[in-house]
Amino acid sequence: MDLSAESFGVAPRRNMGMLEEMPLSLDPEDVIAEFEAMTRDAGRVQIETLKKILEENGRTEYLQRWGLDGRTDPESYKSCVPLVTHEDLEPYINRIVDGDDSSILTGNPITTISLSSGTTRGMPKFVPFNDELMESTMQIYKTSYSFRNREFPIGNGKCLQLIYGSRQFKTKGGLAAGTATTNVYRNPLFKRTMKAMQSPCCSPEEVIFGPDFHQSLYCHLLCGLIQREEVQVISSTFAHSIVHAFRTFEQDWEELCTDIREGVLSSRISVPSVRTAMSKLLKPNPELADLIYNKCQGLSNWYGLIPELFPKTRYIYGIMTGSMEPYLKKLRHYAGELPLLSADYGSSEGWIGVNVNPKLPPEMATFAVLPNIGYFEFIPLRQSLDGLEAKAVGLAEVKAGEEYEVIVTSFAGLYRYRLGDVVKVKGFHNSTPELQFICRRNLLLTINIDKNTEKDLQLAVEAAAKVLAENKLEVVDFTSRVDSSTEPGHYVIFWEISGEASDEVLEECCNCLDESFLDAGYISSRKVKAIGALELRIVKRGTFHKILDHYVGLGAAVSQFKTPRCVGPTNNKVLQILCNNVVKSYSSTAF
Ligand code: AMP
Repeated sequence: MDLSAESFGVAPRRNMGMLEEMPLSLDPEDVIAEFEAMTRDAGRVQIETLKKILEENGRTEYLQRWGLDGRTDPESYKSCVPLVTHEDLEPYINRIVDGDDSSILTGNPITTISLSSGTTRGMPKFVPFNDELMESTMQIYKTSYSFRNREFPIGNGKCLQLIYGSRQFKTKGGLAAGTATTNVYRNPLFKRTMKAMQSPCCSPEEVIFGPDFHQSLYCHLLCGLIQREEVQVISSTFAHSIVHAFRTFEQDWEELCTDIREGVLSSRISVPSVRTAMSKLLKPNPELADLIYNKCQGLSNWYGLIPELFPKTRYIYGIMTGSMEPYLKKLRHYAGELPLLSADYGSSEGWIGVNVNPKLPPEMATFAVLPNIGYFEFIPLRQSLDGLEAKAVGLAEVKAGEEYEVIVTSFAGLYRYRLGDVVKVKGFHNSTPELQFICRRNLLLTINIDKNTEKDLQLAVEAAAKVLAENKLEVVDFTSRVDSSTEPGHYVIFWEISGEASDEVLEECCNCLDESFLDAGYISSRKVKAIGALELRIVKRGTFHKILDHYVGLGAAVSQFKTPRCVGPTNNKVLQILCNNVVKSYSSTAF
């Protein structure tokens, strides 16, 4: 068998102009066969992939600096090129952004820049984007679609895609810059792939790329409702957008019905291009309006809303793991009996793995690494947390049951780049690892010897939310911070909740949160009062929408939005939004 990188489509440079004209055919069984062959010898494909990346880019300023001298084998690569973070590469990336088109990080000049959502540090960061990233994105989409289609086949129909392009702009050096999802949605290959996957979007492009996301969201819902008989899939990049959309539906449903009844778009849609595009779809349809109206009135607390509105829906699809897990409960409520299928694992920097077991519930979803889309290394987490010198192992050397930090070498100019994510190897698909996403590596909450991650916070919130649930209330969203202005410092958890709760209930929640951080460092510090009492602050309804709006204002994409689960001390604006909206505050008496 030909195991050359080229035979597995290791992102060769192609003429995109020609590619756009080619009809796109997609035979799921062919895609699966290719995936199976490639993953049977994942180690070999990785070596080929690294070779290809280094051959294409070996003459760049960055790689020349490390003295590889034309060598392309993993050992030389690992011994010459250091592990880096985004910060290390920033001076190089900034030069590209400013218009230096010499071979800095890639052999071929970078013409497009992605803005990563940057929720962690409150500021978007720049990463290079190129045709190879676009192609690997489509390879990921097609592979997971092929596996999904075996279990949940769909016919010709539409997909209610709750996606939003963000602003694109030119950098000082004249490069197109936008979020990675925007760069993908704008690429003609995206539309063609969606068509081949029988999932064309219900909404016209003017809605996807509308300048005001509230208006786009309203129109997405309207487009979906008008085409409700054709909708087979409800999707978004991250599940937050789906939950957000149906929470908005709860507020706006009567207005949506009025628009459908009269065939006139609400005056709240003020963007002319969006109005023009929508007017082509919207015709007076009182029967449909009545039908939707009656269905909504017949629901109990909006349970099963999605299948009621879209009766032919086969499943709901989007990233539901990691920081999206807290939205699953609400999503299940809206979905009723419909299956939730968790989407793939990637980042603005590049894709990593595909969900090839779509039947698993999102909490158990894993991602099989595609060995031809990048070169992957893994640092055993214990080493990296203990501050030992990080020693990365290759994809073929990881062990089931172990946790690792992910290192990426891409076709778009990132070499041994610490992505900042922690994953666990759950098993293998042929010889490629199946990863479970655990959390971002950065410790969220730490004051002295305590170490709590995003996952620990999520579990504590889940435990305390049970107390709320007994009172028919839910946590709409949450975040946290360390308050070091008090002596000793303490954790502050911010909650937006779905209604009014009594002081007794919230005091109990606050104590439960404090008791649910099981990290030994935290418990012992609390016992000796080296960490102060945990504080639960309840914020006004809509506060987290304000935070979303703030990030969108900074150029972040709604499609990529992840609520920051910890707000750093320099993230003044978000801290200000939170603090200005606190309505009640409780201090734990648990210790
Ligand atoms: P972005 O800034 O939008 O590029 O976000 C990329 C980050 O989103 C990754 O580094 C992960 O932390 C997170 N992410 C992406 N895909 C998944 C997934 N399937 N499960 C959990 N987290 C994910």
